[in-house]
Amino acid sequence: MRVPYINLGLQYQGDKAEIIQKVADLIDSGMFILGSEVKQFEETFAQICQTKYAVGVANGTDALVLALKSMGIGEGDEVITAPNSYLASASSIALCGATPVFADVRDDFNINPAEVEKKITSNTKAIIAVHLTGRPASMDKINEIAYKYNLVVIEDAAQAIGAEYKGKKVGGLGNLGCFSLHPLKNLAAAGDAGMITTDDESLYEWLLKARTHGMKSRDECEFWSLNSRLDALQAAILNVKVKRLDEWTNRRREIAFKYISALSDYVKVPTDNSDIKSVYHTFIIQTEDRDELQAYLAKRGIDTKVHYPIAIHQQEAAKNIPSSSEAYPETERQINQILSLPVYPELSDDQVNYVIEKVTEFFKK
Ligand SMILES: *Cc1c(COP(=O)(O)O)cnc(C)c1O
Repeated sequence: MRVPYINLGLQYQGDKAEIIQKVADLIDSGMFILGSEVKQFEETFAQICQTKYAVGVANGTDALVLALKSMGIGEGDEVITAPNSYLASASSIALCGATPVFADVRDDFNINPAEVEKKITSNTKAIIAVHLTGRPASMDKINEIAYKYNLVVIEDAAQAIGAEYKGKKVGGLGNLGCFSLHPLKNLAAAGDAGMITTDDESLYEWLLKARTHGMKSRDECEFWSLNSRLDALQAAILNVKVKRLDEWTNRRREIAFKYISALSDYVKVPTDNSDIKSVYHTFIIQTEDRDELQAYLAKRGIDTKVHYPIAIHQQEAAKNIPSSSEAYPETERQINQILSLPVYPELSDDQVNYVIEKVTEFFKK
């Protein structure tokens, strides 16, 4: 049996005709920039996140950059984030002219609030809390720290659409939420796309200008900014695909629970608790035999990945960031032990069972 790590084409199976019709209609209408498809998707997205507003932008990285800029973050400011995330959680800070400061994570891959507090200086302006793997970070503690030190909280929810923390959806747990709809994310465009959520009307108004060159009207530019809009073609496709989000999330969780109950005797598995509802963007196991296990599975047709083999503070691009030279023991331990198993909704039960069988077989030998 073959179990590819991902098969993006399968997501379109049930909806292909509708999507192609939508694309054809959009081409006929000529509404390529913003317009009703973008507006409709923004409204749907705000509903999903239980926020007042959602602003479509070109990708998740721009979402983070614009969210930081909306709070006036720039040169001389420090922003605390996790070193084990996708690199955009830190590059977005540097792209604003501010300095990323890393705080180590816990064994559930999310930032450790106690480490965050240790990294606060008089220059700290914000915390980017990443909901890595689709699992919400400890938002109560993070918000408590933010309140105490008067900091902005930005959620990097790129991997976590639909996830919940104490009954509330991610995207509405801080000042702003940032999402990616990149083809590999849980809700995926057929290209790049991103979204920013907020309950704050003045931030919303600012973001509408900021994604369009800083223009306040057709001819008047208020401030320099990016050209970073959610593409109307992508919005049209997303308006069709979003109808299946709950179905897909439930299937991801179903597969994750199968893995958890079958594999917990052999490897460290992620676990849900009553405070969170994780959406399993990735399903990451931890074992000291990671490399051997990965090779064993590859030989038997099962693709796995490592998210991520190089931590952000270890990247060449990060070499001039002062906090890159510090130690992050938990992040550094995880790099050698983490392995992502396939967890996409289109996996068949037979494929899931085959993965379980082969992982179990490896440890029983
Ligand atoms: C994917 C991702 C991003 C960046 O999103 P893009 O749309 O690729 O720019 C940022 N943060 C995290 C945690 C991600 O997984």
